[in-house]
Amino acid sequence: MKYDTPNNLREFVGKYMQDEEKEIIDLACKLINAKTENPPGDEIIAVRIVENFFRSLQIPYKIFEKAKNRANIVGYIGKGPSSLLVACHLDVVPAGDDWKRNPFEAWTDNGRIYGRGSSDNKGQMASMMAVARFLKENESKLKGQFILAGVADEERGSTLGLEYLLNECGIKADYAIIPDVAHNMQLIDVTEKGALFLEITSHGKQAHGSRPETGINAIWNMIHVLERIKQLKFQKTSHPLHTPPSLNLGSIHSGTAPNIVPALCKTQLDIRYLPDDSSDDIINNLTGIIKEVEIQYKAKFDLRVISNQLPTAVPIDNPLVELISRHTLAVLGTKPQPKGMSGATVTKQLIQKGIIAVGFGPGDDTEAHATNESISIKELVDFAQIMALIALDILS
Ligand SMILES: [Zn+2]
Repeated sequence: MKYDTPNNLREFVGKYMQDEEKEIIDLACKLINAKTENPPGDEIIAVRIVENFFRSLQIPYKIFEKAKNRANIVGYIGKGPSSLLVACHLDVVPAGDDWKRNPFEAWTDNGRIYGRGSSDNKGQMASMMAVARFLKENESKLKGQFILAGVADEERGSTLGLEYLLNECGIKADYAIIPDVAHNMQLIDVTEKGALFLEITSHGKQAHGSRPETGINAIWNMIHVLERIKQLKFQKTSHPLHTPPSLNLGSIHSGTAPNIVPALCKTQLDIRYLPDDSSDDIINNLTGIIKEVEIQYKAKFDLRVISNQLPTAVPIDNPLVELISRHTLAVLGTKPQPKGMSGATVTKQLIQKGIIAVGFGPGDDTEAHATNESISIKELVDFAQIMALIALDILS
């Protein structure tokens, strides 16, 4: 099917995607049934489904595999100076317990597709495969390239997935949309907080529990330092698109028995800081607090940075935000709003490579990683229509 009446392009694409509904459901179910729990991943079995699809449409593609069975697949439609990348991840978090049916035998009910990965992120991939088909059939109209990637390892850091594609496989694009933020297409992720994970170790001296004064209690000292860290002041405390910065005490490990003075205590912290704030300042502040406590109590601490993902932001007036807003308003009747995310997505890595990247997509906020995960079929069809219109606009 080809369109040749640009005036009613929106209706044309809408009708096309309505006709694709069964295919979208079928592809989503196939992808869900490909069990790609990460760990161990095994994304190759989902990649084979996408590969068959690309091959049947003569869409050129490449498979990139950094570790055995941890495959990524990238398909290319159209040629030209500009490019739009859409990446959905093919790994899922472990299913967990308490499902009413087998999470890897997808089922539909009440206008929704159920199964692990339905809303995070395989439903979106199925919807984007319908867009790929549409664009392939209308390839002659494209003056740029649509790149659809099914990526590995998103749920555990992306080192075998998008990070590998960007750093080692030469994957590039001018623009990117990552459909992994849910919020029913009502939010455009344009900025993300920094995520600083830290470990603090308190070193004490072991002794008999009946004579604690002869030892140094690593737990008490840790409590002193944590009480002060709880009051940590951030340099930047507000941002027009973000909630305030946050600090989570995620774990404490120490001690073996009531009658032993513990010599070691470890805690882990998750600090989410705003763009414009500096992780160096935060670490310096914490080091200052630690020094004070070391002097006041006979304490000794180590501070270790586990990881630091820098905050990112793209300009709000970039063309993707405008196109997403315009087409979503036309199709759904509601205009999505640019927002800041407290969680980190792969959008970060794209922005750091100079790609104008935003997060946008279907799915309820509460479905990702949940038991009986599901997604609305209508949302997947609407999303395909919106994304096809965006691709046509930005690539022609
Ligand atoms: Zn996801």
